[in-house]
Amino acid sequence: MQCAVYLRLFLRLGIAIVAVLGVCCCKGSTEVRSGHGTANRGARPNERASPIDGVRAIGIIEDIIALGPRHAGTVGAEKTRQYIIGQLRRFGLDPQRDDFTAFTPHPELKQVKMANITVDIPGKANKKVLIGGHFDGKILDGVDFKGANDGGSSTALLLELAQYFAAHTPPCPVRIAFFDGEEALVRWTDADSLYGSKHMATRLKQDQEVDGFAAAVVVDMIGDARLRIQQETLSTPWVFNTLARTAARLGFPDLFNGSRGAIADDHVPFIQIGIPAAVLIDMNFGPGWQSNAYWHTERDTVDKLSPKSIETVGHIVIASLPELARGQMTER
Ligand SMILES: [Zn+2]
Repeated sequence: MQCAVYLRLFLRLGIAIVAVLGVCCCKGSTEVRSGHGTANRGARPNERASPIDGVRAIGIIEDIIALGPRHAGTVGAEKTRQYIIGQLRRFGLDPQRDDFTAFTPHPELKQVKMANITVDIPGKANKKVLIGGHFDGKILDGVDFKGANDGGSSTALLLELAQYFAAHTPPCPVRIAFFDGEEALVRWTDADSLYGSKHMATRLKQDQEVDGFAAAVVVDMIGDARLRIQQETLSTPWVFNTLARTAARLGFPDLFNGSRGAIADDHVPFIQIGIPAAVLIDMNFGPGWQSNAYWHTERDTVDKLSPKSIETVGHIVIASLPELARGQMTER
């Protein structure tokens, strides 16, 4: 994933600049640590426990890392796709693969074969909700990048959601999408990023499927043991607010109090074609408050993650579906 202007400034210039820009949020006792004892207080009776198995999700991340580096075009990326497809079929689902060639600015790779994986699960409402995230890793010279959180946590949660919906009919039709090529192959620009989600959005528009979607939710870097969801300003407000309200109802009132700013991610191509969309992301992935020091480094490893964080985000997404499927009229 990639941050846009505010967070780039933050990374380069530090907390002082963030404070000047007014995008900082409070540190201290309000910090949410997933799995804290107050979770779920006040939730509806049937919403007290997350339907997602976070420990199993961590196991999925370990499986994926064992397949090797998985940036776009690699053997590891293909192995990861095969793993995703195999798991989805094991759940009794019918995954679809959409191969395409991406034209990149990388001097050696140039034309890179990529493929998204999607799976549709029928539900009761008329309009679909898209739930997506990327599975690719980041190409970093000289770095053994595992991407446990960045690309790993999203893939694991999407597989967990697929397994849940395979056994429990969702309140609306759900399309789960595993995007290839989210990461830049050289340096993040509008052209060198989000290859898979752009490809899918283009196809949805060409196939006149846009109106069939009530909303899209993208998850990225949601495994951090100290999870705090960014107040992401490119997201469609009513979609983001629906998710935030659900989090509060489930007993996580501080979870969506991450720093405020624009983060370009796989939700943007869907907003651009007219599908309301939001990203759930924690870009403070590091050892201290407002630190993102593990991001795009060899330190993005499983030991930094918490099963509870993945469970919590999955719980919020599942519990938000009825409102998301109803569309913007749910805005209060
Ligand atoms: Zn990334």
